[in-house]
Amino acid sequence: MLLPFRRTLVTLVILISALVVTQTQAQDDFVFWPDADYDPAIPTIEEVLGYSSGERVTWHRNAIRYFEALAKAAPERISVSRYAESWEGRELIYVVISSVENMARIDAIKAGMQKLADPRETSLSEAREIIKNQPAVTWLSYGVHGNEISSTDAAMLTAYHLLASRGDPRVADIMKDTVVVIDPVQNPDGRDRFIHQYEIAEGLQPDSDGISAEHNEQWPGGRTNHYLFDLNRDWFIMTQPETIGRVRILQEWYPVSFVDAHEMGSNSSYYFAPEAIPFNPHLAADQRASMELFGETNARWFDTYGLDYFTREVFDAFYPGYGSSWPSYFGSISMTYEQASAGGLAIRQSNGNVMTYAFTVRNHFITSLATAETTAANREKFLNDFYDYRASAIEEGKSDSIRSYILPPQADQAAVNKLAGLLVSQGIEVGRADRSFTACGNSYAAGSLVINTAQPAKRFIRTLMDVNVPMEDDFITEQERRRAKNMRDEIYDVTAWSLPLMMNVKADSCSRRVDESFTAVGTELVMAGKLSGDGETIAYLVPWGTAPAARLLVNAMRKGISVKSSDMAFTHSGTRYPAGTLIINTAGNPDDLASSMNELTNTTGANAVAVDNSWVTDGPNFGSFNVVHFNQPKVAIAWDIPTSPYSAGNTRYVIERQFDLPVTAIRTFDLVNSDLSRYQVLILPSVGYGPGYKDILGKKGTANLKGWVARGGVLIGLGNANRYLADPNIDFLAIRRENAVLEDSKASNADDKKPKKGETVDVTVKGSYLEDNAAYQSSITPAKDRPDPVAGVLVKADVDPDHWLGAGVAPSLNVLIRGSDIYTPLKSDKGVNVAVFRAADELLASGYIWEQNRKQLAYKPFVVVQASGKGFVIGFTQDPNVRAYLDGLNIIFMNAILRGSAHARPLR
Ligand SMILES: [Zn+2]
Repeated sequence: MLLPFRRTLVTLVILISALVVTQTQAQDDFVFWPDADYDPAIPTIEEVLGYSSGERVTWHRNAIRYFEALAKAAPERISVSRYAESWEGRELIYVVISSVENMARIDAIKAGMQKLADPRETSLSEAREIIKNQPAVTWLSYGVHGNEISSTDAAMLTAYHLLASRGDPRVADIMKDTVVVIDPVQNPDGRDRFIHQYEIAEGLQPDSDGISAEHNEQWPGGRTNHYLFDLNRDWFIMTQPETIGRVRILQEWYPVSFVDAHEMGSNSSYYFAPEAIPFNPHLAADQRASMELFGETNARWFDTYGLDYFTREVFDAFYPGYGSSWPSYFGSISMTYEQASAGGLAIRQSNGNVMTYAFTVRNHFITSLATAETTAANREKFLNDFYDYRASAIEEGKSDSIRSYILPPQADQAAVNKLAGLLVSQGIEVGRADRSFTACGNSYAAGSLVINTAQPAKRFIRTLMDVNVPMEDDFITEQERRRAKNMRDEIYDVTAWSLPLMMNVKADSCSRRVDESFTAVGTELVMAGKLSGDGETIAYLVPWGTAPAARLLVNAMRKGISVKSSDMAFTHSGTRYPAGTLIINTAGNPDDLASSMNELTNTTGANAVAVDNSWVTDGPNFGSFNVVHFNQPKVAIAWDIPTSPYSAGNTRYVIERQFDLPVTAIRTFDLVNSDLSRYQVLILPSVGYGPGYKDILGKKGTANLKGWVARGGVLIGLGNANRYLADPNIDFLAIRRENAVLEDSKASNADDKKPKKGETVDVTVKGSYLEDNAAYQSSITPAKDRPDPVAGVLVKADVDPDHWLGAGVAPSLNVLIRGSDIYTPLKSDKGVNVAVFRAADELLASGYIWEQNRKQLAYKPFVVVQASGKGFVIGFTQDPNVRAYLDGLNIIFMNAILRGSAHARPLR
């Protein structure tokens, strides 16, 4: 029952429940801004939506309705623009608010920021002239995590206050000296998913008990977008439409300050900048210093209201893919704000206090205004700092140890092109060399891509392209100290994200600038492929090993074209084709194959060669038993508990949106009894919610899956789903999860005498002298079960080129390692370890790894395959689809699906 929360029905409610009256009256009395005088011409939230701020969690469509009502009431001071559409068709908007005078020249203000952004075109004296009359842009973004609800309602209140407040000098300054841009709902699909589940669970009154259904979301929860991405990790990889739109508009406006408003656990208080260490070393010193200014203003307001907060703990600025990081690299001061979540309309905190939704909305509202106030008060400084940031970046790029990155033409040119397009989309200038050249002692062919670092985006180039971005030494020393004391480390996210490593692109760094004739590279991620060859075509060959080739295969099968593939490399007409190359015969395929191939190479970006004879001079012929036929596999993925929403959603995204292959999501519980014979592939994503697969599937489900594999199914386990596949009692795979390697000094409790079941004994341990601190430390160190979890590092794995799962795959892969899972290799009579981590001294590609994990991971499997009846079980011991940003792992993953099902032998 929802109506009682509407203030208009308060009288009716009095008759129903005294408790509800208390709640509602508390709401009415709640003061958002003491002594505010509001212009009645500006519609309140209640006038438009029927409830006052904080009384309901506002749906995305209602938030839009409210901003449109504001725009109608004050069109000369506010504009509403659309910048993207979510997967589920919801509009993403941004709202621009400023004085009448500023709004009348808003295009000139944007143009002014563009001029300040390029000190190569705009001299210091021109910049000073622009800055005199240039308002600074404050960017406030809300609700990137859909279940962190208060910020969107705070966005509405902020806009209302800026437009309706009369006689507040602070507001007048904000409107005069800044342009405030509000992005009220960064993740509308996630927000509405949360509200839907919340409202389903509501009863007579808001329940403040944290164990009540309304405070506990069902899988997958509202944090993520439709494909279950954490949009607050997606910024530099830009896989999702919400992010792509934001990256575009931010570079139109170049705000000098940027806030990403979040929520955290209910028992905390409020967090704002300055941020915790480690800072990314490529941030400029004045960006760190300016955070203090925002922190101080926020603190002053929190003191006025008597509110608790904290700074400099937990939330760091190291990973560049956060909303609070990415804008830093064009020169903004970007920050995270975190409010303790009410998780609904009210929550009882551990100290007994009931925190209302209105309270949480109010706090984000206060810091939103305080942020705009700080920007206004420091307008000139921040604009000068912005110009300096871009100018000093160019200067640094002229004297840095790395002055250019060079990407030579390579086998997977599609990956090179995608990497370049991604960089250009984010404001980095990339040139394609018009002719061959030499640099740093190497010769480079025409067509090589060059990124000179002497440009405004220099710091971002280094952040994304460097092999390693180091954390501060002090921070690492502290983490090692904590780990030695069995305390949790404070590393918040991955410690490695080098784009060339993740995309497996060769990128040379050079200490010299490359001065050549370049053609500027555009933002396109996929280039049209080439169809070459002529004469009487008997077959088309598509070299394997690139994402476009895999897309072509999927789309060809979906068009009903028959495709086969060689598991081994071969030579035809003097050209060497890699293992996995597709062979599409004219015979047996539709008459319009030629035009289909033309279209497919164009749209997928794959290259194909038309050949007029089948004669192979080395390697298997087209009719060899080393050549397999593809059948378009029907792919299913386990969905819902116990899967990690990220792993399930991101994997589905990779298969569907990067490779165009539809995936059927099946709730894990339905795998217990369902007839799976229509499916050729079933993927078990990593576990992240509730119990494991063993508990959800039970004996019956496991037997169902075993029967299906035996009849020809391909079962693929990702990341810690291998705990189930490798469980000795399940035994889909003959690998086993490893315990930590025990060092002698730590196996200290070996003398413990444990009583047998039912036996009562006086349990004693052997006495000992603890003669020094080391002995004491050893005596309190527990024997470890598992290796310590790793926050996220890139390590190298070598691929077995003789197995079909490795066909066309690069010989060496970079794998993101997270968590504590390490597995024993397969014995060679059980199956094949197709990708194996390198020796300890060559293992680490990038990031910070614990010494024990580095030693223990060496020679352990990344990808294993084991035949079972007519099918296969394939294990990826780390999830290859994390954030959909490990492009270098795409081919081995798609091999598992496409080649796995081609090699299985079900009855067809
Ligand atoms: Zn968040």
